[in-house]
Amino acid sequence: MFRYIRLVYKLTVGGVFTRKRILNLLRNGVYYVLNIPPKHTYPSLLIVEPSGVCNLRCPLCPTGAKFSDGGTLTRKRGQLSLANFKKILDKYEEHALICAFIGYGEPFINPDLCELIAYAKKKKLYTQVVTNGHFIADQEIAVKVVKSGLDSIVFSVDGADQKSYEQYRVRGDLERVKSSISNMASARKLIDAENPTIEIRTILTPYTLPQREELFSMSKKLGADKVFFKTINLENRVNSDQETKNRFYLGGVFSRYIDSVSLKSRNKIKNECQYIWFSIGIASDGMAAPCGYMIGAPGLMELGNELEDINNPSWTNATTNSFRRKILSEKSSIEECKNCTGKLSAEGGGPPSMLFRIYNLLRLMTRN
Ligand code: SF4
Repeated sequence: MFRYIRLVYKLTVGGVFTRKRILNLLRNGVYYVLNIPPKHTYPSLLIVEPSGVCNLRCPLCPTGAKFSDGGTLTRKRGQLSLANFKKILDKYEEHALICAFIGYGEPFINPDLCELIAYAKKKKLYTQVVTNGHFIADQEIAVKVVKSGLDSIVFSVDGADQKSYEQYRVRGDLERVKSSISNMASARKLIDAENPTIEIRTILTPYTLPQREELFSMSKKLGADKVFFKTINLENRVNSDQETKNRFYLGGVFSRYIDSVSLKSRNKIKNECQYIWFSIGIASDGMAAPCGYMIGAPGLMELGNELEDINNPSWTNATTNSFRRKILSEKSSIEECKNCTGKLSAEGGGPPSMLFRIYNLLRLMTRN
């Protein structure tokens, strides 16, 4: 409970909610409700990819899959420099509320990540990093991360033991991840900081589903604050073979699909998308995308380049607005969107999403 009170305090008194940002959010909301492409507004949520490179080879990710053949990520695999991040953020900081550092690479491979976070914090944005957890190797690094002012760190931990973990996190080392989590928890204690909140996030697969209780125990032991389970995304953005999809497919309510072949959603898919009315995804090379799922994945929608098209912002340019119109009229014709609810939630939206929220909440309440 105190955590939530602290969060509200931080967002209000801490300066995240300014008049301009709230007004911008409300205006985006009005455009969303009225089904009109936004005019004279800015994204409220920035999804920024610090690095296009990853140390792991996850079979359903365009960065990791088929890496031996050069990978399926077609754009340049690079790092977002602090100078380029400043160019991007300076355009949006007055109106955006949140900067989430996430993408198709591992954020901590970018040597400037802490500087990127510190810059976003200087501009009073709420910040979050999603990481595979292999790079917070000691207390010194963990202290640097805490001192950057980061608000939330999410560790992707897809298994409670190495055998289960490496099924999806190919080349991953669970012990290194566990030590990164405990380094973060002890650094936070050491300098008596409240942030970041530490979350373990697990995709539900046939390997992880039976390990939910072990993951809760692990989280408590390592000093994490919460565990969150999400459904797996099996969309065909990496040309992964059917066998791979079958292997990770989990039927029933713990899946967002009816089956692993058609990948038809269990949720009702409407002609809507919250992402493209509230957020923008920006890859490490500046390429803008409608959402985090599409950042630089092969052949997917490019809305512009945030570093090059300075006078024609991706948020309101013709390409983005025509994409929005297509979402409203014929979303099913967009291959990447046809099974996506477009809800601003981490696990695919719809009834399974509600189920997870209730499960996670109940489990948190009974945790001690
Ligand atoms: S519908 Fe889904 S995949 Fe399509 S832009 Fe929206 S969030 Fe992205």
